[in-house]
Amino acid sequence: MKLIGAHVSAAGGVENAPLNALEIGANAFALFTKNQKQWFASPLTKESIIDFIKNCEEGGFVKGSILPHDSYLINLGHPNDENLEKSRKAFVDEMKRCELLKLDRLNFHPGSHLREISESECLKRISESINIALDKTQGVSAIIENTAGQGSNVGYLFEHLAEIIDKVEDKSRVGICIDTAHAFAAGYDLRTEKNCEDTFAELDMLVGLEYLRGMHLNDSKKDHATRVDRHEQIGEGFINEECFRWLLKQDFTDDVPLVLETPDPDKWKDEISLLRSFATE
Ligand SMILES: [Zn+2]
Ligand SMILES: [Zn+2]
Repeated sequence: MKLIGAHVSAAGGVENAPLNALEIGANAFALFTKNQKQWFASPLTKESIIDFIKNCEEGGFVKGSILPHDSYLINLGHPNDENLEKSRKAFVDEMKRCELLKLDRLNFHPGSHLREISESECLKRISESINIALDKTQGVSAIIENTAGQGSNVGYLFEHLAEIIDKVEDKSRVGICIDTAHAFAAGYDLRTEKNCEDTFAELDMLVGLEYLRGMHLNDSKKDHATRVDRHEQIGEGFINEECFRWLLKQDFTDDVPLVLETPDPDKWKDEISLLRSFATE
């Protein structure tokens, strides 16, 4: 089954996210379980947890259709030990929030070396951060997102994702989330069917599509290989519609949350219908 949705608002409480997802015809969604611009938030209330689980059940959201995203402040590859510690603590806290909400995965951006350490040292720190977080939690997988390679972010090459996973001890609880806009901006071409086939064959060879636990479906406001992360509505950017039509026809996109992070929430309902039509045409 294709699980299609968007990164919806959780304003007023996480329990509102599944309701917001239903309104746009989604059968998958992403959310922040806390304010993404703050380091720490007050714990989830019992009512919030109960209502979230109830709303997800009543809304028919199947296990694995929800892809929470962590705070943008967290840098699991931070070059400075003190800051790294702070990020690790915040990440464990986010994993625990997912655990409480009965969510099975947490999506995060791998990290940045801030030009203070090498990429490979940064990747090593990220693997170690994941090992620590998996040790301290249960039932939640760490889902590494590919990046556009903006600034000093690592994770823009599929090799980076492979290198991180390689040093994770429990491979059953690590996965990847591929953002189409990020991949395209990082230099992977997605403009034609052939480009898509080649890019995902490369991903399969270097990482393995069995690690795919989510996708962010975004067109790109910036051109190929610009390493700038700017999302655009589906079909209105440099990637164009063909890529999404192709993706929705692939078996590997079955049963993984396919999440829109396109800039205009008013268009999500139509974009979800469009994506669904690609899957069945
Ligand atoms: Zn994304
Ligand atoms: Zn992005």
